Amino acid sequence: MNKKTTEPESAPGNQPAVSEELTGLFREDRIEYMLARGAELAREKEKVEKIIKETEDLKGLDPVKAAALLQVEDQEMLDLMLKTARKIKETIYGKRLVLFAPLYFDNICDNSCLYCSFRRENEKVERRKLSQNEIRDEVEALIEKGHKRLLVLTGEREEEDLTYLLEGIRTAYDTETEEGEIRRINVEIAPLSAEGFAELNELGIGTYTCFQETYHRPTYEKLHPSGPKSDYDWRLAVMDRAIEGGIDDYGIGALFGLYDYRFEVISLLLHADYLQDKYGVGPHTISVPRLNMAAGAPLQEPPAPVSDFQFKKLVAVLRLAVPYTGIILSTREEESLRDQLFRHGVSQISAGSRTSPGGYEEARQRDEKKEQFSLHDTRPMAEIIYELAEKNYLPSFCTACYRRGRTGEDFMELARPGKIQKYCKPNAMMTFKEYLEDFADDELQKLGENCLEHHLNEIKGDDPDLAGNVKQRLNKIGRKKRDLYL
Ligand code: SAM
Ligand code: SF4
Repeated sequence: MNKKTTEPESAPGNQPAVSEELTGLFREDRIEYMLARGAELAREKEKVEKIIKETEDLKGLDPVKAAALLQVEDQEMLDLMLKTARKIKETIYGKRLVLFAPLYFDNICDNSCLYCSFRRENEKVERRKLSQNEIRDEVEALIEKGHKRLLVLTGEREEEDLTYLLEGIRTAYDTETEEGEIRRINVEIAPLSAEGFAELNELGIGTYTCFQETYHRPTYEKLHPSGPKSDYDWRLAVMDRAIEGGIDDYGIGALFGLYDYRFEVISLLLHADYLQDKYGVGPHTISVPRLNMAAGAPLQEPPAPVSDFQFKKLVAVLRLAVPYTGIILSTREEESLRDQLFRHGVSQISAGSRTSPGGYEEARQRDEKKEQFSLHDTRPMAEIIYELAEKNYLPSFCTACYRRGRTGEDFMELARPGKIQKYCKPNAMMTFKEYLEDFADDELQKLGENCLEHHLNEIKGDDPDLAGNVKQRLNKIGRKKRDLYL
């Protein structure tokens, strides 16, 4: 968005805007070599078991060892990886899952991504750009369902529109209803210049996310034939510019199904390492969308399909390799698979989603003519919450870290074991209690109170003082106090 008008193609002194240090990381021969070395390691079962065991120290994995785990083909070894991933997830994140809703401001786009309904050439899609009033209506509809965290998305246009987007985010933050307000807005829009990011940062957004889609350059070029997104390097350096613009909370991702999933996972790990080493702060989240059918898009089959077995494996490998980074799964996945994955690594999911602008307010049903791609999991949020609580998983709407300024490296510090129980779990409990009070029916309230009791007892075992403090706060929420957090 606005690339041509806000930033020159090269940095001052005629240095290229994208460094060779960055582009060199994703050279095909380099990643193929790592994958081949991983495959050699993976030939011996004992070595694979040893690598899995090593990850229990929560220090992560280097890319070659991760490549070895990506070779695993037998169920027994996958089960061991999933079991370890689950242990790591529960040590670091506890049994909680953060819920959010995507909100599309528009579906107008100058790009031609072959897999997306919003692509410029698609005449079947009804184009729409929400007015500020319509944004307010959408946000009200989401607040009324109990949401506190939004992810704002748009198409990409060569001109204008940063002003529109900034105004839209302000509108969303300013919208209040009797049921409350949105407390954190994450943003997933096309790459900006460093100056654009500085403006975005001033609004107080949560995480900025952008997916490279595929790190494999020839595939990228084939699938993004025109528009600003056709520039692989511009997109690759997006986080360098975001950080330059002051954003210290960011998420990366790849669209699985476009190219070999092993290549993408190793690339994500290399990208995360590069950003951590260079700027002292790694990605807060890694997203793992898998390609879905999109009406009117030329690509109707994934060029490199990822089976459920491979998908579970790649989520487990990411959990073992970057234990402190959140993993985001979206509505793109089917219910049964989502339920398995959140136990083994995923820490955030979207719930009750619509992928069309205006989709929450106007239609309770799918509107294929405006949506970006079709969804597999269309359960309403209350149903997802019910299922989580039934398994004693805490649904969380927590926004405390961002509001307390615990972002970037401060957040990573907090994510270290031991501290999580002190903040994240109590905060998840408090936001869940609010949800139960304000939105749940009798059955869900009862189930939710049992789930809260279970977690309170767990805290009591480790830290009775903290448990007392949390109990007091839960009682206050029961007496209509809102927005309490640690
Ligand atoms: N337009 C911006 C962009 O592409 O970066 C912002 C967000 S776009 C609306 C969000 C993401 O949707 C893309 O990055 C892409 O990974 C994903 N997406 C597009 N088509 C998809 C499909 N058919 N199935 C699953 N995900 C898809
Ligand atoms: Fe536009 Fe993003 Fe869809 Fe590509 S993925 S066509 S950039 S909305």
